[in-house]
Amino acid sequence: MNYIGRFAPSPTGPLHEGSLLTALASYLEAKKHHGLWLVRIEDLDQPRCQQAHEKAILEALEAYGLHWDKTVMRQTDRIDRYTDLFQSLIAQGQAYRCGCSRTDLKSRHALPHYDRYCLLHPANKEPTAVRFKVEQCSGFDDLLQGSQPTPSEGVGDFILYRRDGIVAYQLAVVLDDYEQGVTDIVRGSDLLDETHKQRALQLTQDYPLLKYAHLPLVLAADGQKLSKQTFACALPTEPLEIIKQLKKAMVRLGQIDEKCDIPSDVGAFIQFALDVWDIQKVPKVIKNS
Ligand code: GLU
Repeated sequence: MNYIGRFAPSPTGPLHEGSLLTALASYLEAKKHHGLWLVRIEDLDQPRCQQAHEKAILEALEAYGLHWDKTVMRQTDRIDRYTDLFQSLIAQGQAYRCGCSRTDLKSRHALPHYDRYCLLHPANKEPTAVRFKVEQCSGFDDLLQGSQPTPSEGVGDFILYRRDGIVAYQLAVVLDDYEQGVTDIVRGSDLLDETHKQRALQLTQDYPLLKYAHLPLVLAADGQKLSKQTFACALPTEPLEIIKQLKKAMVRLGQIDEKCDIPSDVGAFIQFALDVWDIQKVPKVIKNS
């Protein structure tokens, strides 16, 4: 099977130094395999997303030489597909409606894992969320993070559709990856725990299981996790600054060292990056410099 990778930003802000790492690594890994690299805009959480950010992300990807294949998919164009999926899961007894509020969950100590109250006492008040009835989970081998056994406490019956009427990320991502024919995912390790949930859904649906490489989080020089704010600024768009940022990303990803001579043109830089790219060189920990 041919390699199909993807980059799936949420347009809650512009492309920044952190998301550039994911974009670049997923692009280079896909192209190293002569595969396709798709871009999907994950804009389901509308209150947090802005079209201006989507535009800025796409423009930045192009300016940084990361040209995607096929047309960009936008999740808000696919609400009907997601709705069909969660309704058919309910019809097959693999998902159920849940009317519990956060306060209900707290009062029953049903956090973090849901106690299946609404599976036993069907919800009769609106609004309801939809939960996936998790029946099988399996560990997996991550290309960068090694063996990831199934969490001993399971993953809990997670939400597919929120009480506030928003389709949950877990449902959309699994259906999109399947329908786009994605074979390999390179993304940040902040999503490592989510992968177990996504695999549970893939298993139920008999979707092909994907290969994963979760990039290490970027840590501050003192080893602390960097706050989102550190990466909040948009990337520069002047040609010289673009090359500097691309070089910084390649250094962070363990592919070149600071002193390396690099091409000064973006297209030539990306070709150079592709020539040297070896995902196994990505360090276990990325230190912010
Ligand atoms: N949209 C998610 C984010 O921006 C990424 C989802 C994924 O790569 O699966 O964090």
